[in-house]
Amino acid sequence: MTTRTTGAQRFVPPAGGLERLREAASDCEGCPLFQAAERTVFGAGDERSRVVVVGEQPGSVEDHEGRPYADEAGELLDGALEQAGIDPAQVYRTYAVKHYKFVRVGTTTHGASVGRRVRLKPSRGEREACRPWLLAELNTIDPELVICLGGTAAHSLLGAEFQVSAHRGVVHLLAAPELRRNLRVMVTMRPESVARLRESDRRDAFAEFLVDLRHAAEMLRHGTAA
Ligand code: SF4
Repeated sequence: MTTRTTGAQRFVPPAGGLERLREAASDCEGCPLFQAAERTVFGAGDERSRVVVVGEQPGSVEDHEGRPYADEAGELLDGALEQAGIDPAQVYRTYAVKHYKFVRVGTTTHGASVGRRVRLKPSRGEREACRPWLLAELNTIDPELVICLGGTAAHSLLGAEFQVSAHRGVVHLLAAPELRRNLRVMVTMRPESVARLRESDRRDAFAEFLVDLRHAAEMLRHGTAA
């Protein structure tokens, strides 16, 4: 079964808080990704959060459990936030694309693939289809800072030409017509990428991740980019 990528906008309720958005997103068919995944993984956290972190998409664990950053990468993210001086309880976690995109590899039984699920990067069309949910979350929460974790999240908010490696850790002002006010956005790496490194490489990558998050913490303390 296939479905055209028509976008999520027609599923987004015009008003209401996060609960209303979450409920509506559970029925979203704005792109074909809802067909294979178990569920929509909507954002989680307090509506008054000061910070919103935006990842790429849920993984296999999140698809099962229905909450963002439920895996090892989530533990790493929480640990890094704490070390940087940002209270994880004040952080709302969400994804640029809210259904898990994957391919099954390995075993085939009776013609059906039942092997393990391996993540696939969302396409530009899938990212754009899902963007209305992210903008609705940002308009509802109105955070002091948005932290994009990796390229997909950065491209969703800052445009397809944005280069993560050239602008990591820098605070940008996002002015989108769909947003009720301009928002500060910082881009750093995906915690999933750090978590899967070998121990020796992970230490260095984690240190770089911390530098960016400490910059974010400094901005939150003083209200400006350090
Ligand atoms: S990925 Fe986003 S746009 Fe596509 S079906 Fe899921 S919630 Fe809707």
